[in-house]
Amino acid sequence: MDVRALLLELIAPTAIGDELAPGVRLARVADDLGPRLTFALADGAEVDVEVSPATAGLRHAARTAHLTLAYRGRAASAVGAALCATVAARIGDRDAGFVAALAAAGAADAPRVREVTVDHLLELAGPPAARFYTCSPYVGCLIGCRFCYAQERLAAGRAAAGLPMAPWGSWVDVRVNAAAVLADELARLPRYPIKFCPIVSDPYHAIEARLGLTRACLAAIAAAAAPPPVLLLTRAALVTRDLDLLAALPWAGVGVSLPTIDDDVRAHFEPRAAPIAARLATLAAIRAAGVAPIAVGQPMLPGPVDALADALAAHVDSVSLDVLRGEGRAGPLFDDPRFAAARAAGWQTERLAALTAALAERHVPVWSGELPPNLTAD
Ligand code: SF4
Repeated sequence: MDVRALLLELIAPTAIGDELAPGVRLARVADDLGPRLTFALADGAEVDVEVSPATAGLRHAARTAHLTLAYRGRAASAVGAALCATVAARIGDRDAGFVAALAAAGAADAPRVREVTVDHLLELAGPPAARFYTCSPYVGCLIGCRFCYAQERLAAGRAAAGLPMAPWGSWVDVRVNAAAVLADELARLPRYPIKFCPIVSDPYHAIEARLGLTRACLAAIAAAAAPPPVLLLTRAALVTRDLDLLAALPWAGVGVSLPTIDDDVRAHFEPRAAPIAARLATLAAIRAAGVAPIAVGQPMLPGPVDALADALAAHVDSVSLDVLRGEGRAGPLFDDPRFAAARAAGWQTERLAALTAALAERHVPVWSGELPPNLTAD
């Protein structure tokens, strides 16, 4: 199935290069990270509109009866939301046919580990004052967290490619030419920080130990004429293997997920990710190597606040915090009476405030968003 053809049917009669609205041209369609329409604005900025089945329950800016639309890119939020609304209006009642076509796919047999090639790797993101690239050597993640926001978006693209509906956490696309493509992009694209983050995969999930794609990408960055800052986010201890490369870069930081200090809570929500003790040891190794250790706490999870703040103060330079942004497929995890209270927005914001205050008492900087405040392209 050609999902790009389906997307063009969805947005017809607008074709590639046509204006959807004054000053908004359809630049391309793609399905490598899930179905998306990319629009070029009059000021040269590009905005991706991600198209997902409404059953996925993803955060979105607009919707039709059967699809949700979210935006990603350099536009202001009002512009992105208005664009999604315009696309939704154009789709109208063609959404049901699109969803049915995706659902009808998936009968073909295919390996759970699939080698693919890409023609680009770096994805520009962030507002003008804080632009950065995301970089994903893999699509699909073998850690397989229930709450992972990537799974529904990627499932649509996987179905569209005629691949089996394998459970999240059991499949991965290996971008075998990632390092070569990255080296080429580093030589010709503007220099911005590069973020390896779990938008579509963890850069250090199990298969990286064997294939080394993330390491090859770091080597390509290290070999660049002007290596940009690099931020890696991971739930895996394997990142310590590459501290030699990271320490040699002008600036590198590693963010390790640490939303609770209680390993029973961790085991409930992230059964296939590293235990808390291993994550603290990883952070200690990161600091010892001269790389910036960062903790990421999102969503807020139960556990003693002061003990978590003490551990963070001992191990990291700063902490990125955020609340639960939709339960996704993690809903059943919150059905457990021990954790039911944590699903409430009020509990999330109260815990965020309490942890922020506890970290302030310990002089640990807290930030939210995509990049630490000190991280710029210069
Ligand atoms: S480790 Fe990150 S990318 Fe992998 S499943 Fe968990 S949240 Fe998703």
